[in-house]
Amino acid sequence: MVLDGVALANKIKREVQKEVKHLKIKGIIPTLRCLVSSNDRSTRVYLNSIKHNCDKLGIDYAEIGTDSENIIKDVEMLNNDDKVHGVMLMHPVPEGVNEISVLSMLDPKKDVEGRTPENLGKILLNVPSLVPCTAQAAVELLEYYDVPLKGANVTIVGRSTTVGKPLSLLLMSRDATVTVCHSKTRNLVEATKHADVLVVAIGKPQMFDASWVKEGAIVIDIGINVVNGRVVGDVDFDSVSKKASVSRVPGGVGSVTNAVLMRNVVKSVQLI
Ligand code: NDP
Repeated sequence: MVLDGVALANKIKREVQKEVKHLKIKGIIPTLRCLVSSNDRSTRVYLNSIKHNCDKLGIDYAEIGTDSENIIKDVEMLNNDDKVHGVMLMHPVPEGVNEISVLSMLDPKKDVEGRTPENLGKILLNVPSLVPCTAQAAVELLEYYDVPLKGANVTIVGRSTTVGKPLSLLLMSRDATVTVCHSKTRNLVEATKHADVLVVAIGKPQMFDASWVKEGAIVIDIGINVVNGRVVGDVDFDSVSKKASVSRVPGGVGSVTNAVLMRNVVKSVQLI
């Protein structure tokens, strides 16, 4: 089985579109602002896809250029602007700026990427509000395909604050038994081969072939890598799909991530 993220993403987007229409009837235009300090290619590609989704769904979108001198002032300005519901602080922040300090200043109700200490802490307490979009997308993709999580052995490879760590907490709160691996894990293959559900998010193109995976497992590939101009995941799809169910890259978690971000903007309207 292939776990198709596009079908789920379209379902979420249809719901968001409906909600945006309701809000507009009430005179509210969901509004997203991105604070941008770098213009590298991957940031540009990501911003273009966000703008495209916002335009399609009726969300007001704009970018605000910032730098090390203005970033704090800009966050305060967006926090205080009642017309702005969601704010994204694009990574990387300007050199010399402490990203965690800036995130700590962002109004958690406008934190549509779920990156502030308050929103991350809420996941720990199992009262999530705005959740990091990729972690949420991976959970929803599993739920969409009715993958049993209760008591399941789940191995996550990757422990970043935006993906692996929050995902481990979200899955634990669904009663999965979670093992989190990283670059210092000894005998990684032992942990991956015993997993009922394997989630990989490390950024190593097609590293995981069938030899890493249990027969009949569910494999969620979060990695996004560009190789010779082609986007591939961390999983060798052709090899793994012969013995396990696997999500595609592109067309898997990434598609759902974008839809979850749009839904978080609408959620932030209700929180403010
Ligand atoms: P980070 O670089 O922040 O984290 C990578 C993680 O992988 C770290 O925990 C690191 O371990 C671990 N790691 C690296 N190499 C190995 C290895 N050989 N064996 C085991 N663990 C390893 O990356 P992100 O979490 O931000 O992103 C991971 C991937 O997911 C990237 O390809 C990124 O493009 C993609 N991504 C996809 C998204 C989507 O929507 N689909 C959204 C966000 C990211 P350690 O902690 O020890 O350094």
